[in-house]
Amino acid sequence: MKEAKADIRGLTLEEMKELLTSLGEKSFRGQQIFQWVQDKAVQNWTEMRNIGQETKTKLEQYAEFTPHKLLTERISHDGTRKFLWELKDGRNIESVLLHHTGDITKTRYTVCLSTQVGCPMGCGFCATGKLKFTRNLTAGEIAGQVLDITYHRRKVENDFKINNVVYMGMGEPLLNLAAVLKSIRILNHEQGQNIGIRRFTISTCGLVPQIRELAREKLDIVLAVSLHAPTNELRNQIMPVNQKYPLEELIKACREYIELTGRRITFEYALVKGFNDGLKEVHALVKLLRGLEANVNIIPVNTTDNNVYQRPALTEVYRFVKALEDNGIKAVIREEKGSDIQAACGQLAGTYPVNVAPR
Ligand code: SF4
Repeated sequence: MKEAKADIRGLTLEEMKELLTSLGEKSFRGQQIFQWVQDKAVQNWTEMRNIGQETKTKLEQYAEFTPHKLLTERISHDGTRKFLWELKDGRNIESVLLHHTGDITKTRYTVCLSTQVGCPMGCGFCATGKLKFTRNLTAGEIAGQVLDITYHRRKVENDFKINNVVYMGMGEPLLNLAAVLKSIRILNHEQGQNIGIRRFTISTCGLVPQIRELAREKLDIVLAVSLHAPTNELRNQIMPVNQKYPLEELIKACREYIELTGRRITFEYALVKGFNDGLKEVHALVKLLRGLEANVNIIPVNTTDNNVYQRPALTEVYRFVKALEDNGIKAVIREEKGSDIQAACGQLAGTYPVNVAPR
């Protein structure tokens, strides 16, 4: 049986060099091709101007370009962009591009990547969780989201560059850890996108064995744990994962993670009106996180279609944050972006929006 071709965008520099030397080429050709694919984000062989046709013809027999097909790109009133992609096998995923206008003139970009088609975790407030889980993405499909966004944005902004990567799109990243880690190695490489290692954030709904596995990697990335409730009673209602890994086990694994990596953990807390936004929950949260090197991101919940969870009034959000801070817990309200185009936390459904025609 004929072997499947490698996805050229999913190869590390070492793998690229190995592939080239196995074809009788010098290893520096591997480096040149890696730069075309990963740094310049080209989408076909013809754009690689310093690579001879003979080399390209050989390479094409073993590797292929499979850029994601852009189905729709929606732009929020705040500038956030949501991309709906079609993968090689016809499945759909979404990625979100957020911008932050920094100090003087420089705009910084953060991309939120998907790691699975659908998600098996079924978190109650999440549109992705309502989709059937189909499959994990490959490292090339994950890194490819950065490359495709870069490719499209460079048509209008020559020096476009993504500065931060968060694995918070569709899917539970720690269920696809090997591919996620490989995509980080590729995107972090100085010959490629060269995104600083501290600028990667992996989010999890709280998979205890995988948090320990990630800790052993001792990476300088940020780990974000979706907490969303400070007691098992409440958390069981919105996060099915809590039945398997209750809060005591999760927090124990988080302590071990902090000890092993020396890094803080960010806890995400979606604030839901009348559910987890009272003073009782503040005190439970303070008790739970006492002594942990942690930051809490408060995210006023985003409403999705048919969602029963309601967003609290801003005054209630401020009151909750202040009560946490008064008790020595570092908390910030996460800036909400892209909610008008269903690009915010918990809103990715991987489908065409109503009234938006396919491209
Ligand atoms: S919040 Fe994350 S882990 Fe939970 S269902 Fe949604 S995509 Fe999956």
